[in-house]
Amino acid sequence: MKTALVTGGSRGIGRAVCRQLAQDGYRVIIGCCSHLEQGLELQRELEEKTGLEHRAIQADLRREEEIARLFQEAGPVDLLVNNAGIARQTLFTDVSAEEWDDLFAVNVRGAFLCTRYALPEMIRKKEGCVIFISSMWGQVGASCEAVYSASKAALIGLTKALAKEEGPSGIRVNCIAPGVIHTEMNAGLSSEDLEALRQETPLERIGTPEDIARAVSFLAGEKASFITGQVLGVNGGFVI
Ligand code: NAP
Repeated sequence: MKTALVTGGSRGIGRAVCRQLAQDGYRVIIGCCSHLEQGLELQRELEEKTGLEHRAIQADLRREEEIARLFQEAGPVDLLVNNAGIARQTLFTDVSAEEWDDLFAVNVRGAFLCTRYALPEMIRKKEGCVIFISSMWGQVGASCEAVYSASKAALIGLTKALAKEEGPSGIRVNCIAPGVIHTEMNAGLSSEDLEALRQETPLERIGTPEDIARAVSFLAGEKASFITGQVLGVNGGFVI
């Protein structure tokens, strides 16, 4: 049986990805930070549904020692979904170095370290799959989200470089760039802002976590076996 580790599995997109991958037959490691209880609830739900053992593990991706423990407890990982992320809306001239460091510590350094811990075993097996969850703002930039946009653009560069480096080891590395998705990350947006974003989206709806989970399932699966180094936009046509 294959093991998938999903960072940020406690809530939002990651939670839907965990559900989808459990349905696809993976043993799922649900990465959590401040919401371990929600991760444990999900673990129980997935175990009841699939009859397999899954596991919620708490680790703050800002701390390398916690990432090391996460991978030690998880065991070898066949699929890594680097999903955990934070967003901030700040006028660029008000962004402090601390805010920059904090956001990059989770969105970029955390994803980099998780990938570094996952890869040696994949390389040894000559098989594996890494998926980064970027954002359409990493492709086109968002006003007042310069740091977030920069962090998500970094994941796109990482995807492309790693796909080239790890391809000969049989490892595929891809990236998903979601559009506006209905999760707590967007809880700060007013209903007017959300409606404006919906209207700007050619498919005229806000995305769901399940929209992203299905894209992860596709990229992780056999149907995508010749796809690597790609950025798949799942955004209802917002960015074309
Ligand atoms: P969310 O609902 O806010 O969930 C964020 C997840 O990241 C939570 O599970 C959280 O864990 C985890 N996390 C945050 N800080 C962490 C840390 N220091 N260490 C470990 N885990 C941490 O966000 P979401 O909307 O599902 O977003 C998931 C990913 O999709 C993010 O990378 C985001 O940038 C990207 N994305 C989202 C949208 C959107 O419109 N929602 C659009 C494009 C891209 P705990 O709750 O356990 O702390």
